[in-house]
Amino acid sequence: MTNDQTPTERLYAIVEQGLCIGCGLCQSVAGKNRVRVAKTLNGYLQPVVEGELDHETVDRIYEVCPGTRIEGLPQRLVEPDTRHDNVWGPWRRIVRAWAADPEIRFEGSTGGVLTALADYLLESKRVDFILHVKTSATEPGFGDATLSFTSADVLEAAGSRYGPAAPLVDIGEVLERGQSFAFIAKPCDVAALRNYARHDERVDRLVRYWLVMVCGGYGTPQGTIDFYKRIGVDPDEVTGLRYRGRGCPGPTRVETADGAAREFHYIDFWGEDETTWSLPFRCKICPDGIGEAADIAAADTWIGGAPNRVDSVDDPGTNALIARTRAGEELLAAAAADGALTLEYDIVPDTLSVYQPHQVNKKFAAWARHQGLADAGRIVPRTERLRIEELARDLPDETSEFQRKGTLRRIESGKATEPRPEIRKPV
Ligand SMILES: Cc1cc2nc3c(=O)[nH]c(=O)nc-3n(C[C@H](O)[C@H](O)[C@H](O)COP(=O)(O)OP(=O)(O)OC[C@H]3O[C@@H](n4cnc5c(N)ncnc54)[C@H](O)[C@@H]3O)c2cc1C
Ligand code: SF4
Ligand code: SF4
Repeated sequence: MTNDQTPTERLYAIVEQGLCIGCGLCQSVAGKNRVRVAKTLNGYLQPVVEGELDHETVDRIYEVCPGTRIEGLPQRLVEPDTRHDNVWGPWRRIVRAWAADPEIRFEGSTGGVLTALADYLLESKRVDFILHVKTSATEPGFGDATLSFTSADVLEAAGSRYGPAAPLVDIGEVLERGQSFAFIAKPCDVAALRNYARHDERVDRLVRYWLVMVCGGYGTPQGTIDFYKRIGVDPDEVTGLRYRGRGCPGPTRVETADGAAREFHYIDFWGEDETTWSLPFRCKICPDGIGEAADIAAADTWIGGAPNRVDSVDDPGTNALIARTRAGEELLAAAAADGALTLEYDIVPDTLSVYQPHQVNKKFAAWARHQGLADAGRIVPRTERLRIEELARDLPDETSEFQRKGTLRRIESGKATEPRPEIRKPV
């Protein structure tokens, strides 16, 4: 920060430097009369300042924003017998599993375990509701924050949303209810709420379970438009986009205003070559796509990280589940014992590396990429308990340099810079 920046400029620096993932938390921190997280002209969910902001409020946002601060599992949740893997973080048990209910397994993104766990938490009355994300009512491809109170609500929200989603946009109102809940979201969303817990004691009192999906990044708005163009669909005509689920990965389904629906493969959406996937800059420098701050993290089990077009046709879906805390381990065992989850067999961190080579590469590269941010004079996210500096020491010097300089080059070429957030004004 430079001394002459206004509070608004400081908030916008997070966005302009490509660090905002649109979680919505700053709206709750500042109040929606001052900051609104909304779809901006470049297609992302981003904060837009609508009232007077002061430095104190922006200081608080920097403390909790997952663009500026990301930490691993709170130390108090790491037990003496918790195991550690330098890449995969703290863990107590890792299993292959799926939802025991065939409908949940079918509807879910992979094997439906997050939906099955959410349903189990409600049915067993361990929580009053689930805070997670369902298909947006207004923006095809986006996710809307939602509270689920019943099995039907939970099932309606099954499936991965690869577009922007702001699960924390109304977290103040959610906490105001005074009821217990589970939070299901991306690792960065969980990092944000863990940050916020240091400022609002209700978080640790009311959030009973923290569940994440392992996350390689979400799709950029431009990447989604490019997909529509590739399949010959006018983006303005799209009325519905379901990325996956109904099998694993299941079809990517595009609905248009003329009532037509067309189905594609996951690979048609993302592209054959992973290095060309269109991801937000924040995802490229992400120090925690593996959900280190959660009780349980759920992942895919495709060898090499992506499905193969032939084998995935009839795949009913199998998750890898990492229980990181005692609460997560107990939940896993109870859900299996009570028939909500089917556990196949136990696995180890090295198996996860076979399923998720992209996560391993990113974890090793994160520190060098953050050094590239520092070289460019950019905001460097504060990280703790994520071991990225330690992992970077194992990288050959030339690889580190390549990652560091690559980040600097990306910034210098303007690829890591977003325009000032603006929303379309009604005409
Ligand atoms: C952006 C993104 C990137 C991903 N990258 C990877 C990866 O690199 N490797 C990997 O193994 N798996 C990845 N996944 C996870 C994978 O797609 C599955 O979500 C995961 O295996 C859980 O499967 P499931 O069948 O248990 O989920 P489901 O039972 O279908 O439950 C999914 C849950 O996630 C919530 N949710 C869906 N989308 C979002 C969102 N955008 N933000 C917050 N909450 C959401 C839903 O509300 C629902 O509760 C990614 C998911 C997302 C959303
Ligand atoms: S990441 Fe979240 S808290 Fe940070 S600026 Fe974006 S919406 Fe606000
Ligand atoms: S890759 Fe990291 S920053 Fe990007 S959506 Fe996933 S958890 Fe968030």
